[in-house]
Amino acid sequence: MIVAEKINDVRMQVNKWKRQGLTIAFVPTMGALHEGHASLVETAAHDCDRVVASVFVNPTQFASGEDLERYPRDFEKDCRLLEEKGCSMVFHPSVETMYPEGFATYVNVESDMTKQLCGKSRATHFKGVCTIVSKLFHIVMPHRAYFGEKDAQQLAVIRKMVQDQALYVEVVGCPTVREEDGLALSSRNAYLNEDERKAAGVLYQAIVAAKEYISEKSASCTSEEAVDSAEASDVIALMRQIIEEEPLARIEYVEVVDGKTLMPTEHIASGTLIAMAVHIGKTRLIDNFTV
Ligand code: AMP
Repeated sequence: MIVAEKINDVRMQVNKWKRQGLTIAFVPTMGALHEGHASLVETAAHDCDRVVASVFVNPTQFASGEDLERYPRDFEKDCRLLEEKGCSMVFHPSVETMYPEGFATYVNVESDMTKQLCGKSRATHFKGVCTIVSKLFHIVMPHRAYFGEKDAQQLAVIRKMVQDQALYVEVVGCPTVREEDGLALSSRNAYLNEDERKAAGVLYQAIVAAKEYISEKSASCTSEEAVDSAEASDVIALMRQIIEEEPLARIEYVEVVDGKTLMPTEHIASGTLIAMAVHIGKTRLIDNFTV
């Protein structure tokens, strides 16, 4: 596996592959890789001839007071996992390479979708995400880019950016990989102590309960109105009740939104996104499912 730190080295290698007629997949990450990231790389390697991954803890998507400094980093371990899963090149730039002195050009999806859900507490987060992903797209020039459904809002915002900017890349969403108790894998799970780790299972318990409630409701009806009969407010109340029973959990939001626009909706239908952010101790976790 090639390890590249400079923009030009990535460009030259990708150009060489493209001249050979090979297809390029791209998997952007912030490192501290786990089986969730691994599944993206595996899918990418299955779909395309060459997989490029990036490992870069992007400072502009962290607000001051967030965990930028203590975000877990282990590049050597990341490289072993990437190589094992079929990655051909990892781009591991410095902050100065991505944000040289005087950097002043940002990409922002100026729609309400970046102000909903996580955008309410992280006002500049998606501007940072779009700026770095757009720049990485311009460097790697992939045919396809792979993102996890675990970050459903990020995936929706990136799809919007790609559409609005007519970027020549196909965005592929990949299912959330979970621990045995259902906790979605996340680099931030490393922050949890033993008690918090147990408590974190409550997010998935809320998802399971919501899914059961929605399928029972739809089974008791016929026709198109079926899923509609489950009201968003009931689902939110059910999920909140389950999470609130866990003393270490503090809810930031539980919301029912349209899967594309991310605007709140009362009627649950196919494609509706049910998403939450919950603090377990000092660790902020997110999870979701699509109906
Ligand atoms: P991150 O390193 O957290 O920025 O994540 C890099 C990519 O991995 C993003 O597209 C995430 O959505 C995806 N990802 C993170 N956790 C998971 C997971 N548990 N299952 C699937 N994809 C994931």
